[in-house]
Parts: sequence; C-alpha cells; structure tokens
Amino acid sequence: MTSHTDHIRTQLIEFCATIGKNPLLVQGAGGNVSWKNKDTLWIKASGTWLAEANQRDIFVPVNLQPLQQAIQQNDFSVTPQLVGTYELKPSIETLLHALMPQPIVVHLHAIEILAQLVRANCENTLKTVIDHSISWILVDYHKPGQELANAIHEELIRKPNVQVVFMRNHGVVIGASSIQEITAILTLLTSALQVPVSQSINAQHAMISKRTEYTPIQDDSLHELAIDPHLFDRLAHDWALYPDHVVFLGPQAHTYSNWQQFDADVSANSHDKPELIFIRDEGVFVMPSFQVAKQVQLRCYLDVLKRQSIDTTLISLTHSQIAELLNWDAEKYRMHLLRETAQ
Ligand SMILES: [Zn+2]
Repeated sequence: MTSHTDHIRTQLIEFCATIGKNPLLVQGAGGNVSWKNKDTLWIKASGTWLAEANQRDIFVPVNLQPLQQAIQQNDFSVTPQLVGTYELKPSIETLLHALMPQPIVVHLHAIEILAQLVRANCENTLKTVIDHSISWILVDYHKPGQELANAIHEELIRKPNVQVVFMRNHGVVIGASSIQEITAILTLLTSALQVPVSQSINAQHAMISKRTEYTPIQDDSLHELAIDPHLFDRLAHDWALYPDHVVFLGPQAHTYSNWQQFDADVSANSHDKPELIFIRDEGVFVMPSFQVAKQVQLRCYLDVLKRQSIDTTLISLTHSQIAELLNWDAEKYRMHLLRETAQ
C-alpha cells in the first residue's frame, strides 16, 4: 500500500469516527463510507458502526472491476467479491458505492437532510435552498440494495457526475475526490436544510412503569414521543418513514391511551407483548431485551419528527414497501449480527 492510500485511509478513519459520534449525522450501524483504490473498493462492513472506525477495522476490500462491469450490463444481482478472507460482509449498499464515479463516497441518514426527505414537498425545498454550485438528483424511494442501486444508476445515466444523490425516505449519498470536499458538501447541505427544532415538552413526573416487564426507556428525551400529543399522533400515522426505522423498530408503533388499554390489547390478541410501547401522557417503556442500537433509531425518529411543523405532510412507506424490508435476507443478517454483538 502506498503512502498516499495510507493517508486517505487514515483521513477517512478519522472522518468516520468523528461523524459516527454525532447522532445528527449517524445512528448506530447506519450510513456507510467507501473509497476506491485502483481495482479495489474499500467499503464499510455490514453491521459495523462508523463511530468505531478508529477502534476496530470496519472496512473490507472488494473487487471493483467485476462490480462495475455488472453495473454496465444492468446486472444488479452481482455479489461483491472480497479480496482475501474476512469474517465481515461488505455493506448491503456496496453496489451504490461502486456505481458512483468519485473516489470517495459517503452515504448518511443525516437528520437535517432526512427530515426533509420524508416530506411530501421535499423536491421544492431542495430546488429552493441547495446552492447552485452543487449538482444533485432526487430519487424516489426504493428498497435498499439492488433496487436502489439500479434506480440511482438509471438517474446517473441521465445526469452523470452528480455530487449528491438525495433519496426520498432514506438519506443522502455524497461523492467527491477528497475528504475535504465531502466535508464541505455535507456542511453545506446540513446547514442549508436545517430547520428549527420544536420546543421540548418535559415530563412533569418521574417515569414509573406500571407493569413489571417494562422499564422507562433510558434516554429521557424519548418520553416526549408519548407526552407531546402531536408527536404521539405521528406515531400512529407517520411511523414507517425510512428503512432502518422499520428494520430495527418494526412495522408499526404500539401505542396505547393508558395501561388498561395495553392490558386489554394483550389479553385480547394473546400475541407476544411488544418490546417497545408508548403510553399516552405516561411515557415510553421497553423490555430488557431492547438494545441500544434500537434506542438510537428511536432517537433518530424523534429528531426527525421534531423538525416537522404540526401541519407538515409526511410520506410513509407503503405496506408492500414495509413487507419487502422485513423479509429481506441481508437485513436479517444485519439483525443477526446485532443480536450477536449484544450478547
Ligand atoms: Zn441507508
């Protein structure tokens, strides 16, 4: 490895560790980063956390040329081949990174950007506020993996060499030739799309679970989801806003007017008790199995909702989009990894 590629690697590891610790940019194992070095694409491994980039090796090398050839032939079913033996698998978004022409590619679910991309009118906002020095496209929602890569590839044929790909109900991809350029674009986007955050309603009482199998969620700010009536309404109508939220937290929110309604629902349906429940005016409660990776996803959701006005129309994923996400093998693998690391 030359000193130049060493330098890029060092810079990128530092970049990943920094953004990985900012919950407004990265949530848990979400987001991924890659760089291209001749015939090799170095890509974040599935299930690893960007925040851990300077503590463990989160990148794996894959053969770039076969991927690019497959993409040219519109074959998005190609499986990325690792260069060497690794226990980790390359990110499920490897094709997306391979098809971007720039040497460095960063994909994030940055809150200020995501909060716009779940809105019905996001295209108008992007046209109005994004600096003309940036070339960008907006793509509709597609299932992450093959379908998303295919859709972005088609858009890039029409408009090659864009620096920024906005993905509705998902996040952003930024391509550039240097980490400085990536940082500059990311800063520009997040500040241009920033909106005021709604004031917090603090709980007036200590959170007490009234059922032994549940405890109050540890991140106190999350109780606002049950205490603010507007946020509580969003739980029912605007839950499935983007893929990671559904994959980690399930297809719908389990909301109850009170504990009695929760009891009635559990005995009527005799299903497994949900791991995460929202009791109106009481708080958010979880079972002990509820992991930190899920809690950071719920924090992401709160951060997205707190950037919406009461009357903002949001677009949720459809039932079929939710179903295809939950039956997805690659995501099951990711969840499997998650369970393993939690043990
Ligand atoms: Zn993503």
